Amino acid sequence: YNVPVAVNEPVKSYAPGTPERDAVLATFKELYNAKVDVPLYIGGEEIRTGKTKNLTPPFDHKHIVGQYHEAEKEHIEKAISTALEAKKKWAALSWEHRASIFLKAADLLAGPYRAKINAATMIAQAKTVHQAEIDSACELIDFLRFNVQFMTQVYAEQPISSEGVWNRVEHRPLEGFVYAITPFNFTAIAGNLPASPALMGNVVVWKPSATQIYSANVIVEVFKLAGLPDGVINVVYGNSAMISETLLASPDFAGIHFTGSTGVFNDMWAKIGQNISRYKTYPRIVGETGGKDFVLAHPSSIPAQVATALSRGAFEYQGQKCSAASRAYLPKSTWPAVKEQLVADIASMKMGSPEDPSNFVSAVISESSFDKLASYIDQAKKDSDAEIIAGGNYDKSVGYFIEPTVIVTTNPKYTTMETELFGPVLTIYVYEDAKWEETLALVDSTSEYALTGAIFSQDRYAIEQATKALENAAGNFYINDKPTGAVVGQQPFGGARASGTNDKAGSVLNLMRWVSPRTIKETF
Ligand code: GLU
Repeated sequence: YNVPVAVNEPVKSYAPGTPERDAVLATFKELYNAKVDVPLYIGGEEIRTGKTKNLTPPFDHKHIVGQYHEAEKEHIEKAISTALEAKKKWAALSWEHRASIFLKAADLLAGPYRAKINAATMIAQAKTVHQAEIDSACELIDFLRFNVQFMTQVYAEQPISSEGVWNRVEHRPLEGFVYAITPFNFTAIAGNLPASPALMGNVVVWKPSATQIYSANVIVEVFKLAGLPDGVINVVYGNSAMISETLLASPDFAGIHFTGSTGVFNDMWAKIGQNISRYKTYPRIVGETGGKDFVLAHPSSIPAQVATALSRGAFEYQGQKCSAASRAYLPKSTWPAVKEQLVADIASMKMGSPEDPSNFVSAVISESSFDKLASYIDQAKKDSDAEIIAGGNYDKSVGYFIEPTVIVTTNPKYTTMETELFGPVLTIYVYEDAKWEETLALVDSTSEYALTGAIFSQDRYAIEQATKALENAAGNFYINDKPTGAVVGQQPFGGARASGTNDKAGSVLNLMRWVSPRTIKETF
């Protein structure tokens, strides 16, 4: 297959004086002072239902940057029928044309749309410019370009033939439509979840998270400009329960591409189970859910390396990555050195609006998230087996700001060692150096999740021991590096246990889920 070789999109620096910095800050300002009116997008038609909700940035929640329209049941039904109609032509189109549309979308994001997608992500999701760049520019561009390579690997998977017999496999799209549900925390995931099934010839109904609609709307604009035919990806907003109920009750529901919480994914799975006899085909269920990701340091680890991994892994993007470091197990011998640097790092982290690129952290996504995090912090202030050694303050008067917070506990099963908080709160348990092996067992048994994890050590025996003991504890396992920041084409991403179906975003495995192969045997 002759397709352009995918190369990871270089990350721009946004250092003072660079043209990209000037461009993104100017676009930020322009968008911030305008108001968008975001319609549903069904069959290429913009639908304004008149039932609207405001869009507000989490770091300045009284400021309105626009509104979006909510769907009624009839719109969801229309999205299904429109998608199925569009599928007749889309699935028949040769793969080069589908690939070319998504490659063009990647080029638009890399060039003329880079400032806009990054500024939109900064406003909607309160990402700093650097966090926006690695997500909504680089990772999304990478997904779109690498998917084309992975697609050719899927198509290349062919059986053997013999004299008089020609066996072949047609990698057909699924029969029906795919439902994509995307989370607020990555614009890249928002783009990839509808795009990867569509690349394989499927049609999609896409529901972005309510707190991501503002940036999702830019992706819709880019896909349209890239030439995506009407009806291939249909975008709906509104009441999640009604939308899911309607889509999952359709006989043509053929698959779900999900990233979000474990609880919601479990609900989807249960609903699919209830409806199973209605469907024309067994649906594909692909989901990435929660995490309670660990950092484990061995006594041989380098304290400065561990401290840096913790401050970046736990607090970049306010800890709102599924992959964020949220529980750490550190040996007593190196703890004073790690603590000193970690506390100093946190003291130097500036917090505020993403408009100021010197801010390292911004607000958490919503009031409900803020309230939940604040209640865990308050509880830790009261509990005798917990101590807050950094942060611990919060304020929602302007935006949903929570200081990067470190809890140290003497109880390895303390609530915040076990529960996913999805915010800037790291909990640390300090173990006796001699208890390394017990600690390995503790890391494995403390959480129901298995998304990411990191081991720090300079001792090959300890590294091997941890790699084996924790083989089921993380789908992405890092040795001497922070547990966040998987790169498409380099670290296929996903976990098992309560963290999802482990169909690795950014890999050929993911694209294989979006085909329903037909084997053809022909004799001469
Ligand atoms: N892939 C991202 C990372 O490695 C995390 C994705 C997520 O939060 O769902 O940091």
